[in-house]
Amino acid sequence: MILILAPNTRPESPEYKQLMAHLANFTGISTRIHTEVGIEQTLTEIYLIGNTKVLSIEDVSCLPCVDSVVRVSEEYRVLGRHKNDDRPTYFEYNDVRFGQDTLNVFAGLCAVDTIEHVEMMMKALREHGQVCTRMGAYKPRTSPYAFQGHGKTCLPYVFDMAGKYGIKVIAMEITHESHLEEIRNALYQTGSATGVMLQIGTRNTQNFELLKIVGRQQNFPVLIKRGFGITLDESLNAAEYLASEGNRKVIFGLRGMKTNMGDPHRNFVDFSHVPAVKRLTRMPVCIDPSHSVGTRASSPEGILDIMHVTAQGIVAGANMVLVDFHPAPSNALVDGPQALLIKELPQFLEDIQIAREAYEKRTLLAERYREKQNTA
Ligand code: PEP
Ligand code: MN
Repeated sequence: MILILAPNTRPESPEYKQLMAHLANFTGISTRIHTEVGIEQTLTEIYLIGNTKVLSIEDVSCLPCVDSVVRVSEEYRVLGRHKNDDRPTYFEYNDVRFGQDTLNVFAGLCAVDTIEHVEMMMKALREHGQVCTRMGAYKPRTSPYAFQGHGKTCLPYVFDMAGKYGIKVIAMEITHESHLEEIRNALYQTGSATGVMLQIGTRNTQNFELLKIVGRQQNFPVLIKRGFGITLDESLNAAEYLASEGNRKVIFGLRGMKTNMGDPHRNFVDFSHVPAVKRLTRMPVCIDPSHSVGTRASSPEGILDIMHVTAQGIVAGANMVLVDFHPAPSNALVDGPQALLIKELPQFLEDIQIAREAYEKRTLLAERYREKQNTA
């Protein structure tokens, strides 16, 4: 059971103390407190853990400071959507809003190679009004002999360039807890020129110790990719690890599943799960058309498969697109064959706009028919 307290409830207030004293009397029930400090208000949620079936929602709702009560009826206690659950489905980070109602594009380099390429990418993004990007510094590779990313050495110039071109959020995968400290230090040294969204890659979806460490910090939001060979439920539980440790700024990323049935694509595209994840949880949902499709193949009408699946995910309500671009894909050190060209950025963005408008129209249509049925 979750008690949502009135906004800006102060822990030193007599009402709060009274509430906590009351909760302490419940036998076999422990409490876990989560505080979310926002720009306008501070929200406190108290999780009651244990045999809460004996408690009635009505009684608990009457306790001091309690605004509303949610009975956790399903899994994913923190990130899930429960009955009568009107907890937010969005968060803000570095002045950018991420929610189940918004759409953000993160076009960028799968792996940072040269400062020139970083600058070309960011310049193009600014020219097209983009404030988010992806920049890989730590690359988990199948072969130990493959390029593993420049690591911390590229961070200062990546962050400086981001500041120069008005990039507010960079999605960046980390594979080890030490990377967190390296990112923090580089941001500090560059005067916090930008923000970072930590990415947990598909190979680390169930690296529980990494999830706990990333979940314990609340500075950076997290994009967690679905595991490519596990069930959706297992991946959503992995996301819940982050939230249960305290970090609610979590986005869930679909990136295709590893199966030979994925042929002719690198992975089997799973973007039909966008609405399912939005129904089961309050997380914004990201799609990664690059790692799911994995090629620059195109259909007879001349549209790249990567653009087709992006549109499919967006028409179904996706909230974020993580996509590989490269100024010279044949020279890219990682995943060149799936990279879009910088000159394709405007078409990609316009195509996204068309798909988003279709999604918005579909939402209005559904609303209209719902109203009609309700009044019939
Ligand atoms: C990536 O986004 O660069 C990446 C390696 O993705 P995934 O973890 O989905 O393979
Ligand atoms: Mn890649």
